[in-house]
Amino acid sequence: MQKIALVTGGTRGIGSGISRALMTEGYIVAANYNSDKRTAEEFHKETGIPVFSWDVSNYDSCKKGIEQVCSELNGTIDILVNNAGITRDSMLHKMEVSFWDKVINTNLNSIFYMTRLIIPSMREKGFGRVINISSINGVKGQIGQTNYSAAKAGIIGFTKSLALESANKGITVNAIAPGYISTDMTEVMRDDIKAQIIENIPLRRFGYIEEIANAVLFLASEKSSFITGITLNVNGGQYL
Ligand code: NAP
Repeated sequence: MQKIALVTGGTRGIGSGISRALMTEGYIVAANYNSDKRTAEEFHKETGIPVFSWDVSNYDSCKKGIEQVCSELNGTIDILVNNAGITRDSMLHKMEVSFWDKVINTNLNSIFYMTRLIIPSMREKGFGRVINISSINGVKGQIGQTNYSAAKAGIIGFTKSLALESANKGITVNAIAPGYISTDMTEVMRDDIKAQIIENIPLRRFGYIEEIANAVLFLASEKSSFITGITLNVNGGQYL
């Protein structure tokens, strides 16, 4: 039977690559997004993948959104890819409380909301795959990103604990820590900063969204059935 996959932030950037790859592999896919309706509609037109708008940083919105997905796709979620994320960079001594709250709510609390709502049906079914998108900067830290790094490191702890809780129910829970990938999120970086970063990437380039999508495909598949609780670094060989 075809499995159902839900990708948060699944209509743009890395998420759109993940949604497309899962569809090509034969999964039924639902893609969530927040506010960029135009891009989401174009994505839907191009791929046929149904798109659903809700704010993952709000528990009630997640609840309504997931109910809508399950009712439209006539089933429960087998594969949850927690991908949606944002940055609000600032040195800590100048950081607005709103920057801290927004990043923690969108990048970390969302993972609790989404997974808390979906894991009961996975446990009931005796099968599930939870794949959380962390970041190299959650593993090694980054100047100007105490909020982002804290959220992304939090995801790794969440992943390990939930993996232990869920293993006896046929559910695997893993994280992926991408290095620098060419998307809107990295497009805003200054060219000299990008060049400096590339100097430190052994493969001497930013990654492609398809390279993260391939890692998701592996962790979603039967081929990764004995892997749980890990963080897979997909970063061109960057020393952590
Ligand atoms: P992106 O191009 O900026 O896309 C972000 C996606 O997340 C969009 O679809 C956006 O929806 C969605 N989103 C943001 N806030 C949301 C919210 N409150 N509710 C629902 N959806 C929301 O980002 P990206 O570069 O693809 O990054 C994807 C993930 O990879 C993030 O978790 C990011 O931290 C992580 N990551 C990225 C890199 C990189 O180099 N790009 C490196 C390491 C980790 P809208 O389209 O509606 O705005």
